[in-house]
Amino acid sequence: MLTKSQKVSYLIDSVLHYGSPVVCPSCGSTHASEVDRKFVVTRLFECDKCKLYFRHPTDSAEVNKKFYQKEYMEGDGITTYMPSQAELEDLKKMDFTTDSNKNAERLRKLFGCLYSDLKGVKIMDYGASWGYVSYQFRAFGMDVESFEISVPRASFGNQSLGLRIHTSERDLRNGNDIFFSSHVIEHVPSPGRMLDLGKKLLAKDGYLITICPNGSPEYREKDPEGFHSSWGKVHPNYLNAAFFQNKFKSNPYFITTSPFNFDKIAAWDKRSQVVDSQLENEEILVIAKPNV
Ligand SMILES: [Zn+2]
Repeated sequence: MLTKSQKVSYLIDSVLHYGSPVVCPSCGSTHASEVDRKFVVTRLFECDKCKLYFRHPTDSAEVNKKFYQKEYMEGDGITTYMPSQAELEDLKKMDFTTDSNKNAERLRKLFGCLYSDLKGVKIMDYGASWGYVSYQFRAFGMDVESFEISVPRASFGNQSLGLRIHTSERDLRNGNDIFFSSHVIEHVPSPGRMLDLGKKLLAKDGYLITICPNGSPEYREKDPEGFHSSWGKVHPNYLNAAFFQNKFKSNPYFITTSPFNFDKIAAWDKRSQVVDSQLENEEILVIAKPNV
């Protein structure tokens, strides 16, 4: 959700940088093909090498970081809205908002397909905002550490919820069982770099779990308008199954789209490469094991 002035400056930036070189922010390749276009001057490209869909003009890592310190606001009332102390106590009493609670329950089921007991499972919640999901992971008995690029949001979670949300990637611990991110990878300067960090922070046999908007052609076919509206200023990357399959080509993975079929995830042997479902729904889930 952008304010009017953010939209105007986004368009002005896009016009000014329309002629800048088209370079994949993930792998650096300069070979890419146009797949979509908005406002004449912003285009979505597919990298010929790593298959990432990315918006052009791209933002620098500095511009991206500044945007997420304070400017970025999600319209769902919880992701970026920091409640007052009294509101927070109410939220805790009712296990956060119904939507957040439903999402946490969905994640508990998902992790339950991988671990019979979540107690002590070491999870890195990457892109945690002020920690309302990290807090719920802790309530499941998990050993949670988190990362958030926005210093004010991280401080809020650390002070109000007693969490361990770091703002520097250098401070993140190694040896995690799960590197988790939900609706984060579409925002970062380089998806490939983020996944490499996840691999580095995972223990042997650990799981890298990513949930994000689905940019696969099958979804575009089913819902062209949904596809067209899902990329832009706030979502400079649009992830599709082909990108993840290429990134994890030597690793076990399970890829599916919403709604997640937990029976199938539980039945996955954790060694093979599975693309389940027709990839035609709006959210994509990737579970990969980069360190087997
Ligand atoms: Zn690329």
